[in-house]
Amino acid sequence: MRSPIPDYLDEVLDACSSDRSGHVADYIPELASADPDVHALAISTVDGSVYDVGGRDHQFTIQSICKPFVYALAIDDIGLDRVLEAVGVEPSGEAFNEMSLEGGTGRPYNPMINAGAIASHQLVRTDVWEPDPASPSEEHRTEGVRRRVARVLGGLSAFAARDLDIDYDTADDEFASAHRNMAIAHMLRNHDIITNPPAEAVRGYIDVCSALVTVGDIALMAATLANSGTNPITGARVVSPTAARQTLSVMATCGMYDGSGRWLAQIGIPAKSGVSGGIIGVLPGQVGLASFSPRLDEVGNSVQGVQMFQRLSADMGLHLMSNEQPSNTAVRWIGTVDDTTMPATDDGTVGDGGDPGDAVLPDDGAPPMGLRTKVVLQGTLRFSGAERTLRAVVDAWESAELLEQIELNLARVDSISGAGVRMIRELVRRLERDDRQVVVVDPDRLLTD
Ligand code: GLU
Repeated sequence: MRSPIPDYLDEVLDACSSDRSGHVADYIPELASADPDVHALAISTVDGSVYDVGGRDHQFTIQSICKPFVYALAIDDIGLDRVLEAVGVEPSGEAFNEMSLEGGTGRPYNPMINAGAIASHQLVRTDVWEPDPASPSEEHRTEGVRRRVARVLGGLSAFAARDLDIDYDTADDEFASAHRNMAIAHMLRNHDIITNPPAEAVRGYIDVCSALVTVGDIALMAATLANSGTNPITGARVVSPTAARQTLSVMATCGMYDGSGRWLAQIGIPAKSGVSGGIIGVLPGQVGLASFSPRLDEVGNSVQGVQMFQRLSADMGLHLMSNEQPSNTAVRWIGTVDDTTMPATDDGTVGDGGDPGDAVLPDDGAPPMGLRTKVVLQGTLRFSGAERTLRAVVDAWESAELLEQIELNLARVDSISGAGVRMIRELVRRLERDDRQVVVVDPDRLLTD
């Protein structure tokens, strides 16, 4: 049985594919020639399941989606206080490539606009990583530039749990006409926010913007931020919890160019978009989300990507301000029980099945059903808890451990969100379709009322 989640993502992708408004970015040749109809959607949970659909193998340059990650790396490299001396945390209310800096300090307003990203890129350490051997030599790609790029590329790769590459052709094309970013870097140099030659700062920043990623990569990168900086797949601590929290805070207010306020109110997920058409969203403690579709709206956000996020946020109850707490322990127990051959023991447990202690109590409402797979759920079931439930059942199916009869026991579930209800009902529907006999023990009628 296939998990309903990829099917749901496919449905969202399809539902959002008809709007062909907007335009691909055309100031970099590689972006101008992008196929506007390739689209993709991915979710990564904080315990490392990645679901990706559509053009899941399609690689695109990360562009501005690198900004939050570079900021987080800089915080860990030199400390938050020193980063704050160079880059502020206020929304600018201006375009991403605006040339304004904060009055008085000369700091860029925040790390999500180009001025702030060029400055934060200059703050990472250069003494740890050897230069990327693939990096072509070029006048402004000095040893220092290449070391800094290697440090950031290593960091981005740790976020993505695989070695990422830079598309140096795209980077060279962009650098050849990067007059505006050069102007920004000169202003930063003028205010001593950066100390290296402006051309070197822009070179490094653009190289990093040209790292190639898939939608699944950026979903996992987002999930690493959601997981307080620890990569859910490798278990490596990529950035500190402080760096992750600071980065998410800035993403919440500044991540979506000039549409950041509207985005936070409507969709309610800290996010970052990039001109190649990607968007990431991070729900702390729960999931990383990512969409890709190259046509952009008037503020530079992917038209279809914004729609996909609108759907995901509404369907799954993801708006941060709605304060739904995630459940990381939704599946209390899953295993085999048999109450025809093994009567209830004195302490109330039934069967052997490896059932730990009180997981199966006589008052959980389960009728004697004989040999079955029992799934005991508990707590608050929202998107993440329901996803864990689906995954546990699909895993049991795939390892041929799922018996003919299945008991889904909700006696210990306190509450369930609309998304949770739909996901569990869909699970039951699919199991029944695949000839399994399902008994749902739901004494509080959470699934039906
Ligand atoms: N390389 C791009 C630039 O600096 C990144 C822009 C973006 O994705 O917003 O212009």
